[in-house]
Amino acid sequence: MTRRVAVVGGGLSGLAVSFSLLRRAERDGLGIDLSLWESETRLGGKIATLSREGFRCETGPNGFLDNVPQTMEMVEELGLGDRLLRSSDAARRRYIFSGGRLRALPEGPAAFLRSDLLSLRGRLRIVGEYFVPPRKEAADGEDETVASFIRRRLGEEALQKLIDPMTSGIYAGDPETMSMASCFPRVVALERQYGGMIRGMIAKQKEARAAGQKRAAGAGPGGTLMSFENGLQEMIDTLAAVLGDRRHTGAPVRSLTVTGEGKDRQYELAFADGSKVSADAVILAVPAYEAARILEGAASEAAERLRDIPYSAVSIVHCGYDMKNTGRDLDGFGFLIPHAEKRRILGSLWTSSIFRNRAPAGKTLLTIMVGGARDPRTPLLDEAELHRVVQSELRATMNQQAPPDFSRITRWEKAIPQYLVGHEKCLREIEERTRRLPGLFLIGNAYRGIGFNDCIKAALQIAPRVIEHISSTSPL
Ligand SMILES: Cc1cc2nc3c(=O)[nH]c(=O)nc-3n(C[C@H](O)[C@H](O)[C@H](O)COP(=O)(O)OP(=O)(O)OC[C@H]3O[C@@H](n4cnc5c(N)ncnc54)[C@H](O)[C@@H]3O)c2cc1C
Repeated sequence: MTRRVAVVGGGLSGLAVSFSLLRRAERDGLGIDLSLWESETRLGGKIATLSREGFRCETGPNGFLDNVPQTMEMVEELGLGDRLLRSSDAARRRYIFSGGRLRALPEGPAAFLRSDLLSLRGRLRIVGEYFVPPRKEAADGEDETVASFIRRRLGEEALQKLIDPMTSGIYAGDPETMSMASCFPRVVALERQYGGMIRGMIAKQKEARAAGQKRAAGAGPGGTLMSFENGLQEMIDTLAAVLGDRRHTGAPVRSLTVTGEGKDRQYELAFADGSKVSADAVILAVPAYEAARILEGAASEAAERLRDIPYSAVSIVHCGYDMKNTGRDLDGFGFLIPHAEKRRILGSLWTSSIFRNRAPAGKTLLTIMVGGARDPRTPLLDEAELHRVVQSELRATMNQQAPPDFSRITRWEKAIPQYLVGHEKCLREIEERTRRLPGLFLIGNAYRGIGFNDCIKAALQIAPRVIEHISSTSPL
């Protein structure tokens, strides 16, 4: 018997789970009537590649690391393997704006010891991490902020100059409020398992060598940044094509109601235009605040906790220049700025140096990130004012004197979910409060991983549970 599955939200998470469900149904001969409902008139959510005047501008992520097999397998299954575009080797060089100038982020331990990014004292404090005992509470899994963990293990200077910009680069967040366990779980695991970060990395190297591998799966991301020839939009378009007429855009879901019990349980989605759709299973692949709105009637206590996951505002400003007017050699990935520098941008990617075809010949493209948890106002400035702020910041940080020949702004008022201290506890409560609604699934970047790869991994993990649910409740 055919079972109806409704996916709400057509960002990467919703598209990936739909793809996985359709593949499984095809492989196992299951009858699934899948439909995907997206409020906007286009699919992709935060991901879109805009081609303007020969520039390719990403509105959200610029790429994904190739070290997550699930993503690479999905790329192959979609027939996109030969469309992959690898970032340039130069993009491995990253800069931090510190003490009024750009300084290269050291690439290995020896370079780190020679680098002047941190004072000698700050560098020795990091080396001394080896001798810092693990936190007593670490064993029972109690959460702490990113700032507290890093201060404790690596010292104040490493927090301010290295981890603070990294936290704003990935999460647009504030290390003083973010959860270490939810934002950097692999680092926390090193302390729990081996007593410290350096001890853990040494142990992992040894384990890898013993297993005959060249490189240990450490605490850092590793991998190479990838995209597609025409940007990440290619992945969205291909996933959308697989869905065919099962996808419905311009269809905002307003609420969900539940009828019946056990095998008779049905979910009904109500849309803004008053129409309704029933399903045996529903996957909410929308931001947490939208999931809260949809679940207000059916699971108000879960909705309450979903609302506790805040989002930071970010604007992405693209600026294109004539190569001869570019303020400095764009010999790397770009730079991030520690909060202590008191600048008004989070940093800039040197996009045309990362991927070879993002700007027309003779031009360069920068992607500037503005906003984050500690600066909710700047990303929402009016267009002229935002451009003015960005130009002035680029002058101060990377000597970009000439104005851009091309520019465009993407605003995300609710860009990136913030995993605050206690995030995992919040997720467990949401799970408990939705347990009486089997057949309802929540996925997306608000929960256990905010990145492109995390969304794919979560979608692939949930697909078999959806199949199990609809198989177990299928009438004989
Ligand atoms: C500026 C920015 C930069 C980023 N950079 C990186 C990066 O470099 N690397 C990386 O790995 N990740 C990055 N990310 C994160 C990555 O983009 C996201 O994790 C991922 O795209 C989230 O996908 P999603 O499907 O979970 O959510 P979304 O993309 O938010 O999709 C949710 C979808 O649900 C729809 N929706 C909402 N409400 C309803 C409703 N009521 N009814 C129907 N549909 C609804 C929305 O319109 C949207 O299409 C970045 C994100 C941003 C914003």
